[in-house]
Amino acid sequence: MTATLISFADAQRLVLEHAKPLGAERVPIERAAGRVLAEPASAAVDLPPFASSAMDGIAVRAADTAGAPVTLPLAGEVAAGNPAAGPLAAGQAIRISTGVVVPEGADAVIPVELLTESDDGRAGIAEPVQPGANVRDRGGDIRAGETVLESWTALGPAQVGALAAAGVAEVRCTRRPRVAILVTGSELRPPGDELGPGEIYESNTFSLAAQLEDAGALVDRLPDVEDDEVATRAALARGLEFDVLVTSGGVSVGPYDLVRRALAELGVEEVFWRVAVKPGKPIAFGVRARTLVFGLPGNPVSSLVGFELFVRPALLALQGVADPRPPFRPAVLASPVRRGAGRDELLRARSRVDGGTVLVEPVGGQASHMIVRAAEADCLVLVPRGDGELPAGASVGCLAL
Ligand code: AMP
Ligand code: MG
Repeated sequence: MTATLISFADAQRLVLEHAKPLGAERVPIERAAGRVLAEPASAAVDLPPFASSAMDGIAVRAADTAGAPVTLPLAGEVAAGNPAAGPLAAGQAIRISTGVVVPEGADAVIPVELLTESDDGRAGIAEPVQPGANVRDRGGDIRAGETVLESWTALGPAQVGALAAAGVAEVRCTRRPRVAILVTGSELRPPGDELGPGEIYESNTFSLAAQLEDAGALVDRLPDVEDDEVATRAALARGLEFDVLVTSGGVSVGPYDLVRRALAELGVEEVFWRVAVKPGKPIAFGVRARTLVFGLPGNPVSSLVGFELFVRPALLALQGVADPRPPFRPAVLASPVRRGAGRDELLRARSRVDGGTVLVEPVGGQASHMIVRAAEADCLVLVPRGDGELPAGASVGCLAL
């Protein structure tokens, strides 16, 4: 246990040192979007599986158009899903549609828009075509056996589409982390209940569950606990059975901040407590066996920001994402901000694109309890600690929310 503040970068490094990829499991591709490949996936077939037409038009032998303008007799049609009707005889053309097998003998397709006539069984061709024109090569996208996607690729819409097209119906992905949320605080009531004196509505579970699900976790919300030692310890013990336990509240220095002591009693080794960031200073991180434990502060904005800085990267690392760190992008301050001497600050801000740059404007109301103000923001702006002010126009890092 230490009372000195560690830097945001050191804290993040310590978290990632403890977050190694979970085991793999087979996943059908219809459920693979959002997952991360644990093994390379290779193509089951050539793609396209046969030479096919890139246009609606007619298939020809290019050599037959050398003397264009010419007129060729039309020998019917090749249709989608059918094997080629048979070889195309010299001196003939055949109607063909986009994606359809180019018949043996044909080596070019002329788009229908370029034909000077195409009825009465004849096609008028204005200009010679080159062999290969408007023909998609067999295996032009990928060949059977080649790697469609490497290990640790995050699967999004294009990736699952690529797997399907290459005939891959199932892949091996890292397991999704099982995460428990435990909210502490005797003053908390669920929204919808009547508030008694001194009570407030519990909001962190909702934000955290949404963030966790977005980060690929399987989420279990444990029942909230009051600030009572026995109840807190029992609830934490249950949470330690998960891959990750995220707690809210009770990690500060007040008499009712019981979480860290209870975790220690349960055998959790504290890796760090208190980070030089604002908001989120009292954040605690520990491990017990393979379980990662994040003690997030109860203030709703601290919880929201602490999750993005530390918990999301850990979840991505558990799923094998190659670079799980928060992707801060370059941005420019639209208005001056005061810097903190001792802590890096994450301001909630709105971004807009102006010319080629992203301009960020902090929202009004930056206190860590102001979750409604934070809800106006679309990004977090990192203001490194230092003296005085960062002027409008200064370069900063910006993390999308
Ligand atoms: P704590 O970290 O437990 O000291 O809580 C800090 C502040 O955040 C207090 O004002 C709490 O009332 C408030 N708070 C704690 N937990 C929650 C929660 N789950 N939802 C909303 N506010 C909370
Ligand atoms: Mg509390």
